[in-house]
Amino acid sequence: MSILVVGSVAFDTLKTAYGEREKILGGSATYFSLAASYFTKVRVVAVVGEDFTGEHENVMKARGIDTTGIERAKGKTFHWGGEYGENLNEAKTNFTDLNVFQNFSPRIPQQYADTTFLFLANIDPALQLQVRRQMPNVKMVGGDTMNLWINISRPQLTETLKEVDILLINDGEAKLLAGDSSLPRAARKVLQMGPRALVIKHGEYGATIFFRDGGLHPFRAPALPIDEVQDPTGAGDSFAGGFMGYIASQGKLDRSVLTKAMFYGGVMGSFAVERFGTERLQNLTTEEIDSRFELFRSLTHLE
Ligand code: AMP
Repeated sequence: MSILVVGSVAFDTLKTAYGEREKILGGSATYFSLAASYFTKVRVVAVVGEDFTGEHENVMKARGIDTTGIERAKGKTFHWGGEYGENLNEAKTNFTDLNVFQNFSPRIPQQYADTTFLFLANIDPALQLQVRRQMPNVKMVGGDTMNLWINISRPQLTETLKEVDILLINDGEAKLLAGDSSLPRAARKVLQMGPRALVIKHGEYGATIFFRDGGLHPFRAPALPIDEVQDPTGAGDSFAGGFMGYIASQGKLDRSVLTKAMFYGGVMGSFAVERFGTERLQNLTTEEIDSRFELFRSLTHLE
């Protein structure tokens, strides 16, 4: 099975309690694909500028990620600046330079047409919808978004949500999207907007999956307490990569697969935050991933 992800491939300028980094490789599609690459074949659709080098692209290629769908445009790569204070679960955006994303019109390469799973990572919802419409036959569609788009592109986002099967967002985004400060109520309202399932990420506290079908009760997976969170950037996208990657590797979608996917999401998110940028996601081993999965299991196991 394969996953196609559309999202940002970016440069990030970051500040955390552990230091600062200037223009390092980031982006929602980058974190997602690196995390998912440990489970399944990944294809990327994105745009980068002239400042994006072969060395940057090799970070993805080295993980076997198909980068044919990354378009090179005139101009500069998307550049995001963010920092984190005491609350590691919330990034403060310092700047968002859309650059080449301003004139981006995503096109799906011919050889991506047989892709089975689609993930609409965090970008302008109008672009997400454009890609969704070009992939009508996929088995399942996952999606993400952020406060910025909920605030400035709600009509487009509403259209996109109708075409998403599983939406993954965080607590704040769910409450903002639903206009409700109660999380379970917000979840129900978001599920009325289209998705069949909603994963709400609670940062360092884990994540909960809610279902539109009232007969299916929610399930919560914890997050692993990490000694040193050096850089929370990409935790959400890496969670989504582990979650969707595991689902794609199983090829079926029952409750057991979904609950395990919640754990694999947590595993990949926990690796991402241990180092700055994508560093930790570049060279993991299956043993490291499996043993962390077992840690998650023992954390929640009831004798
Ligand atoms: P997260 O998993 O939420 O920490 O995602 C962090 C990544 O999202 C960073 O690497 C940024 O480059 C990317 N990002 C931030 N803002 C945007 C935006 N408006 N559109 C697309 N990607 C973004």
